[in-house]
Amino acid sequence: MCQSCLGFITFLSQNFVLTNTQKPAEFKRAIIDTHSHFLAEYYKDNHYQQQLDRFNAENGSKVIIIASTAENLQAALDSAIQNNFYCTAGIHPKRLQELFEADPVSFYQKIDDEFAQLQKFLKDNVHQIKKRIVAIGELGISSDDEQVMRLQLKLVQKQFDLALKLDLPVIVHAHKKHQLQLINDLLMESQTHYKNIKLVIHGFSAEVKQLEELQTFNCYFSCNLILLKQSGNFKKAVKRIGIDKVLVETDSPFVTGGAEVSGPADVLKVLRKLSEELEMGLDQLNETMNNNAMKLFQIEV
Ligand SMILES: [Zn+2]
Ligand SMILES: [Zn+2]
Repeated sequence: MCQSCLGFITFLSQNFVLTNTQKPAEFKRAIIDTHSHFLAEYYKDNHYQQQLDRFNAENGSKVIIIASTAENLQAALDSAIQNNFYCTAGIHPKRLQELFEADPVSFYQKIDDEFAQLQKFLKDNVHQIKKRIVAIGELGISSDDEQVMRLQLKLVQKQFDLALKLDLPVIVHAHKKHQLQLINDLLMESQTHYKNIKLVIHGFSAEVKQLEELQTFNCYFSCNLILLKQSGNFKKAVKRIGIDKVLVETDSPFVTGGAEVSGPADVLKVLRKLSEELEMGLDQLNETMNNNAMKLFQIEV
């Protein structure tokens, strides 16, 4: 065979190999979902495995698995270890609401027990703190009832103090304006005490005024699939926050973005929408989101 034919065949085979080993064309880097309740117990049939496969196929690198009750702390940690992901530890405001609504009399004992279990879990797994357990939460306010909101705020305070003690960020659930205001007021009333706190306001859709107060603290804002239905205000909000304080998440499987079932791979939908909204290249945006997550959670992506 002549030299030029040989050269051409070599060129073809090199190109073929390259095409087959390339990452999805739009991404040079791995993707991370900073907030997913990605536990098999929340998926039916084989949907959990399907979502995990989909995430891996999309160049998915890391998921921060959110624990929300004392009951699923261990499952979140086990799954994080098994998949080389990360997890959180905390008590969701809806868990408190659930216990209160089930029985307001035994509630106080039950919520104390739940918090004691959280503390014990962290003590027993102290070697995993900052290694696999990278945040406290999710915690926050989910109710509109005055009494329940007061109780939720107390639990927020206790978990904030735990996070300060362990030097971990907190992941805050407060989707309505008045709920976020309670968190805001708590922080502003004890600014000195909370000066070192690191926060993520997740499922973010806040008013600009609240953003400015929260920015007194080391506060990040995390966007999820709900963003797909919004437009307009977001660009303005990101301008105020600064892109270096934005994160992306799915909150799967509880937020589906219109799909039948959602998983960490859907963070790509959030990235695409955000890239359109902010008129920023997808790859550059992804890199920024990864850097933000690595900086806040002290993790590798
Ligand atoms: Zn939430
Ligand atoms: Zn969540």
